[in-house]
Amino acid sequence: MDVPKPGPALFIQPHYDDVPLSCGGTVALMSERGDAAHMVTVFAGELVDEMVGEFAAWKHSRWKVADPEQVQRIRRAEDAAAARALGCDVRWLGLPDAIYRGDRYKSDSELFGSLRGEEMDLAAHLAEEIVHLPEWRAGTRVFVPLGIGAHVDHQLVFEAGRHLASRGVEVYAYEDCPYAIHTPAGAAARLAALGDAVGEPFSIAIGATLDRRLEAIACYTSQVPVIFRFTDDFRRAIADFAQARGRPGEPAERFWPVRPRGQRHEDRA
Ligand SMILES: [Zn+2]
Repeated sequence: MDVPKPGPALFIQPHYDDVPLSCGGTVALMSERGDAAHMVTVFAGELVDEMVGEFAAWKHSRWKVADPEQVQRIRRAEDAAAARALGCDVRWLGLPDAIYRGDRYKSDSELFGSLRGEEMDLAAHLAEEIVHLPEWRAGTRVFVPLGIGAHVDHQLVFEAGRHLASRGVEVYAYEDCPYAIHTPAGAAARLAALGDAVGEPFSIAIGATLDRRLEAIACYTSQVPVIFRFTDDFRRAIADFAQARGRPGEPAERFWPVRPRGQRHEDRA
């Protein structure tokens, strides 16, 4: 399929890096075409020392950064450089990442588990915040993560996408990378869990902008060695994955339309 019709688009990423990693080719295509495309990073709140518990501190040590202020400075600089590589801008929202939300998630197994009930309000709040952003225009399309890999922050942003779909917004879910790359079974598991929440997927050919997606990903210098620890060639891992999503010789990115809450399977036509 072609790129969605021209018009404004918001690409919502839970963390600094998810959009370039997962659908940077589509962002670059839309930017090149002159669509008003913007990235929005949700969990980009200010960090203070008190928020950094044992688990967060361990994460920081893996990223080789010591103090919270430095974490934020480095990650925002990487995010801004990646947005520039894709030809768009990026806005940072003030929500704290799951690893800084008190004691809710204290290990990787909790971080990649089920979304805690008390966080559903946060999803509704996020949907509200999105439609009030200065970048919001009538007809804005919204892209959210499908939630492959089950990271609680990704699930939360997907839920915000469902709230928006229920308000009549056109919402699409992108395929979370690198989770979808290193654990192919994750997509099937997530789709089974979502049931009728999404429609049939479609692919957008990104042969013209795959290199820009790779260039944008390379901007996340502190993250690349950690997120791609399953490979020594992240460019090839991304390119091969994109290749498998399109027709022969044509790399692509895949998206699922997100359905409003309460909409039944029969409405799919
Ligand atoms: Zn993420």
